[in-house]
Amino acid sequence: MARFTLPRDIYHGKGSLAELRTLRGSKAFVVVGGGSMKRFGFLDKVEQYLKEAGMEVRLFEGVEPDPSVETVMRGAAAMREFQPDWIVSIGGGSPIDAAKAMWVFYEYPETSFDELCVPFHFPTLRTKARFCAIPSTSGTATEVTAFSVITDDAKGVKYPLADFNITPDVAIVDPELAETMPKKLTAHTGMDALTHAIEAYVSTMHCEYTDPLALHAIELISANLAASYNGDMAARDKMHDAQCLAGMAFSNALLGITHSMAHKTGAAFSGGHIVHGAANAMYLPKVIRFNAGEPEAAERYAQIARFIHLKGETTAELVEALVNRVNEMNAELDIPSRIKDYEGGIIDEKEFMEKLPRVAELAVGDACTGSNPRRITPAQMAELLKSCYFDKETVKK
Ligand code: FE
Repeated sequence: MARFTLPRDIYHGKGSLAELRTLRGSKAFVVVGGGSMKRFGFLDKVEQYLKEAGMEVRLFEGVEPDPSVETVMRGAAAMREFQPDWIVSIGGGSPIDAAKAMWVFYEYPETSFDELCVPFHFPTLRTKARFCAIPSTSGTATEVTAFSVITDDAKGVKYPLADFNITPDVAIVDPELAETMPKKLTAHTGMDALTHAIEAYVSTMHCEYTDPLALHAIELISANLAASYNGDMAARDKMHDAQCLAGMAFSNALLGITHSMAHKTGAAFSGGHIVHGAANAMYLPKVIRFNAGEPEAAERYAQIARFIHLKGETTAELVEALVNRVNEMNAELDIPSRIKDYEGGIIDEKEFMEKLPRVAELAVGDACTGSNPRRITPAQMAELLKSCYFDKETVKK
């Protein structure tokens, strides 16, 4: 038995934001981030459309990047006071992830974060409100996924929450919002989406329902990401759909060790954070080579390479062609090929080597490791991470 869960409605295409007018309810609680959605006028539109739908609207503004437990609790308290029957979240991954967690504590105030950390054991939601998500970046696809990441600042721990109960009811994938993304964010979120699609395709949890979504997303991202980065807005629009398709795939097929490594290296070093999408982009070529040591996984990577018309006869040639394509994309997007060169070398070599055994152990224990197509020991993980720090990738023409 397997389960495949998506939002009930996914509105997409330019102007689809206006579909907010079709929501039926009496009170909408709107969760939003730092201010870009307000600055570009999208927040006003959201308010206006919800009012046209006959709803009373309350805003919850200023959700920070990597949203904290405190923000979630504050939002949930405001929801309990307002009693919405719709929760509408708009912005990047952070406000939408925060709103998902607020939703749980709104409906179940007695729940603890520790209880929510057990994957796929949430209480039944939708006893008070339904959930609509509107993404402004093209990467996390949280608008269609069963996931939310919340940070406990006091403990310095990230809680990855996972349950189909928090898969939104309605997603509005309007590319006009993504057209406001700065260049670097476009590159990083785009490579995050590519990693979602590739990891979902080779995951041990992949199935007939997730494979076509993953493959088509890979094709669209390979064809459009560089152009989107360079300001081609038609390509940017395609990327918004592509990341959502990748999200539909990985929400149901789960991910692999590229994500395990990105999660555990992200905030581990004093020089600065390694941004999620950039980490995935740097690690993915190395992970493909490692996983290809498992013949079934190698065959799956070869299928991806064939699907996007890369050259090669044997499985090994096709795997290398896929690695080369990812390296080529990183080069086009000005993403370095190793941690040593990340942001001008902010991750110190000595500190990296000192922390390596612990980080490797944590990465093996990450929730995403379970669905990776090849088993990995902490020692192998340490080697793999070391190669991510030191080994420069070259692009073959
Ligand atoms: Fe990701």
